[in-house]
Amino acid sequence: MSQKKFKGFSSLAVHGGHIKDPMYAHLTPIYASSTYVYDEAEQGMRRFSGKEEGYIYARWGNPTMNEAELKIVAMETYGLEKDGKALEAKAILHASGMAAISSLFISTLKRGDKVLTHFSLYSGTQDYLKSLLEPLEVEAIIVDLRNLNLAEKCLKEDPAIKMIYLETPANPTLQCVDLEALSKLAKQYGKLTACDNTFATPYLQQPFKFGIDFVMHSTTKFLNGHGTAIGGVLIGTDLEFMKTRATKTHRLLGGNSNAFDAFLLINGMRTLEVRMLRHCENATKVAAFLSNHPSIAKVNYNGLADHPDYAVSQRQMKHPGAMMSFELKGGFDAGVKFMNALQMCTRTVSLGTCDTLLSHPASMSHSSVPRESRLEYGITDGLIRLSVGIENIEDILEDFEQALKYK
Ligand SMILES: *Cc1c(COP(=O)(O)O)cnc(C)c1O
Repeated sequence: MSQKKFKGFSSLAVHGGHIKDPMYAHLTPIYASSTYVYDEAEQGMRRFSGKEEGYIYARWGNPTMNEAELKIVAMETYGLEKDGKALEAKAILHASGMAAISSLFISTLKRGDKVLTHFSLYSGTQDYLKSLLEPLEVEAIIVDLRNLNLAEKCLKEDPAIKMIYLETPANPTLQCVDLEALSKLAKQYGKLTACDNTFATPYLQQPFKFGIDFVMHSTTKFLNGHGTAIGGVLIGTDLEFMKTRATKTHRLLGGNSNAFDAFLLINGMRTLEVRMLRHCENATKVAAFLSNHPSIAKVNYNGLADHPDYAVSQRQMKHPGAMMSFELKGGFDAGVKFMNALQMCTRTVSLGTCDTLLSHPASMSHSSVPRESRLEYGITDGLIRLSVGIENIEDILEDFEQALKYK
């Protein structure tokens, strides 16, 4: 079924990757079994040697997790071709986005290698580079990758760079990097490329289209879409690498997903297009409303023509997405008061769920970070981070309108 050419993304999101259940269950069940049995010893032999396909042990995979993987591959490669044939890829489901990032780095890098990356990255990834890779003598070179000349200079001068690691759009100011240009540069210098596609989802942006080698997601966010499970996925188009080194890393790292979370993810992904259409439609209206509000100094949204990366984002994304941030004129106090005044929208970190989520990094996620350091990343005192939900726009705007009258 996953091989069938669908005319539209939702048909693919609903049906793609489905494996017919031997018991005729409509939905792939939650396979709550740690291990899988053999009819005879020889079958065990064949499975372990790879001569026969089949499940062995759930840390390595199970039917529910496999269906989630196939659906993600179908979406990330939808409509893409390579050498006149449908582009092939393999996904490996993980316990979290961070576990997928771990598999990516551990399977591709060794001591002495360097990663070239952009300064605007998910905070966990940034911390990973510093706290886990640096002690293993894998260094991160962090620059502004929107400067392509600088990117090329780095590649030219430092042969130890093995990979360009990208995230676009990225927290908190929705900076975007040019996937096509950076992928071309990487190929020219023989480097790998990886892209965290969490904010965009495969519906809005397909990094493989631009020749990126690896895509990863925190499935916790828009792919699951309902905030019911933590998860992550690593997808690659080098099938040999994915089946050998990446698979081995995933199995030995122990960052496997589980059947229940995979089941929730599958069902979330079936509605990806319809959710994203509404998320995006609402986001456009929210951005326009915030831009015109007298209490707001600045709106960071890659869908606004004055955003520095508007052009790149228009080129590589179907729509700029549903993430944005804005700065309250009143600074830290205003941030706290505005958050407290919200009546419908949800005060929390994370993103990509049906409800509109807001956080005030200066008093929450970044409260322990020294002010000077957070300012470097654009996290100002009055910055509010926003994931626009799928509620009715009238209710979202009404809540903002009244909360912006905070005292
Ligand atoms: C949440 C997030 C991650 C980490 O994913 P977890 O599922 O929390 O481990 C990585 N990248 C981005 C962009 C994220 O938003």
